Amino acid sequence: DKLKEKLVKTKKSIVEKIEAVIPTGGKIDESTIEEIEEILISSDVGVKATDEIVSILRKKVKEGNVKNFTDVKIILKEELVNLLKNNNFLNLKSKPSVILVVGVNGVGKTTTIGKLGHKFIQEGKSVVFAAADTFRAAAIEQLEIWAKRVGADIIKHKSGADPAAVAFDAVEHAKAKNKDIVIIDTAGRLHTKQPLMEELGKINRVIKKSIPDAPHETLLILDATTGQNAIRQASLFNEIIGLTGVVVTKLDGTAKGGVIFGIKKEIGIPVKLIGIGEDIDDLKKFNPHEFVEALFD
Ligand code: GDP
Repeated sequence: DKLKEKLVKTKKSIVEKIEAVIPTGGKIDESTIEEIEEILISSDVGVKATDEIVSILRKKVKEGNVKNFTDVKIILKEELVNLLKNNNFLNLKSKPSVILVVGVNGVGKTTTIGKLGHKFIQEGKSVVFAAADTFRAAAIEQLEIWAKRVGADIIKHKSGADPAAVAFDAVEHAKAKNKDIVIIDTAGRLHTKQPLMEELGKINRVIKKSIPDAPHETLLILDATTGQNAIRQASLFNEIIGLTGVVVTKLDGTAKGGVIFGIKKEIGIPVKLIGIGEDIDDLKKFNPHEFVEALFD
């Protein structure tokens, strides 16, 4: 299917390489396990996640139950799904529900907001975008194009305006007009950690004045093509603002999709959505089982 097609490069970098190091007819031994370990590390799965997978594989090999690639595959699939387990999707029980979206420039933040808005509107929900990345005029324009395209309201101020004021107005607008969901776009200038922390902190404080338990979700957008860099961004943003979920974009056409397996293990935050292309429908609710099946199929 489509997901499988999009994950072809990641499949090549993980699954096909592992298959190649399993001796046909021979014995799976410690050196095979070490080769698998190297493949997982080099395909961005991350050290912690790799350690966990490899120690379970080693145990099962010692027990004598692992004879061929099919056996290895069963173990890997089970462990990879375990690593990704995610008990709850987006918390959208409040009306309006407020979703704060953070991430560095270029990761696909605006596109993801557009696609997410589209998804909600298709489900019959009403959506307000808040153009709180006021630092770049282009960001406001781009979000406006998405708002028109998907049929969301947009609240914007002039470029350079206070992002927290935009966010506050969007939340107030949603309350007044009885809208279901507010999605707040923010600036992502990571080289300025202190100002970014202050800006995001202020947005949080100000929207709480309107809705005390908002934001209901704080989603970090990560670009899969940046590999281990994505993990570093995740831990930094989690420290700065406290995340409830991660969206991994650009999983299509990258060999670094393995990065998705390390995120929860490294920072304790689940992946909730994935981006698999530039089209409006290319944002999917993340289903660990389906993802791993598509990779190994
Ligand atoms: P922002 O700076 O974080 O707001 O990033 P944009 O939303 O402007 O996206 C940057 C580029 O990444 C654009 O060309 C998007 O079309 C592209 N993009 C976003 N998500 C995906 C995805 O899942 N797959 C692919 N292939 N491209 C994506």
